[in-house]
Amino acid sequence: MTANATSHGHGRPCLITRRATFSASHLYWLPELSADDNRARFGPCSQAPGHGHNYELVVAMLGPLDANGMVLNLSEVKHAIKAEVTAQLDFRCLNETWPEFDLSRPEGRLPTTEALAQVIWSRLASHLPLAGIRLYEAESLWADVLGDTMEAFVSIRTHFAAAHRLAREELSMAENEAIYGKCARPNGHGHNYLLDVTVRGSIDARTGMVCDLAALQQLVEDLVVEPFDHTFLNKDVAHFATCVPTAENIALHIADILSAPIAATGARLHKVRLQESPNNAAEVFAETPQLGLAPQALEAALVG
Ligand SMILES: [Zn+2]
Ligand SMILES: [Zn+2]
Repeated sequence: MTANATSHGHGRPCLITRRATFSASHLYWLPELSADDNRARFGPCSQAPGHGHNYELVVAMLGPLDANGMVLNLSEVKHAIKAEVTAQLDFRCLNETWPEFDLSRPEGRLPTTEALAQVIWSRLASHLPLAGIRLYEAESLWADVLGDTMEAFVSIRTHFAAAHRLAREELSMAENEAIYGKCARPNGHGHNYLLDVTVRGSIDARTGMVCDLAALQQLVEDLVVEPFDHTFLNKDVAHFATCVPTAENIALHIADILSAPIAATGARLHKVRLQESPNNAAEVFAETPQLGLAPQALEAALVG
């Protein structure tokens, strides 16, 4: 390699991302279902004439650097995303834009977050070296697609407030303080926890859904938020009577609680991310066998 070829990182791989936004409306209504069935399945999302979201799209691209030190010329990336996606969807009703969402066709599907991310992938793939598509419908709901398949990741965000104390019963106060610092103080302290739950599954060819989103939100609410919110974890949640409620242990316990019930919805729990403060977070990958991951979670993930 000449000195010229190695300058500016020429030939070395790099992942780049580009963000774009658009606003669009949609309606969840399948013509083959009765009005009652549409309402029962899709709730308020079935109310005519629809409702809207401010979508945020993040396109990840992978490739080697050119002689100018870039994976791609960003103005070309910006143009491709605008021409192929945002200019076609912005201020429109998704059901009436792309044929993929034309429900009068048997192959049409509802424009859910994950279905939209998947179609965006298929439309951008011939223009850009895609590595991933992330689409936020709201701060509390987003989907990731990592290939030209019907597989998608759906993430929901919720929060709870709880107190805890970090200390091991068998240790002295001095020993606990040496390990956990101020977190070992006897009367505890609290956090506003942000909880992200990510599931993985196949997008249904008609509903456009990886799983019933309302059912997933209800599971997290009933099994985690309701029992954890406004509690002193060490005293109010039985598991933490004997297990130190670090962010890591709370995330693991949440993964253990959610794995089997989520598997019953047809999706798989992929990841639990618990943000304890702006400065620290813990992530547990429920599907990947890892040292220290509770066996129940592994079993549920593998069997499910
Ligand atoms: Zn919506
Ligand atoms: Zn703490």
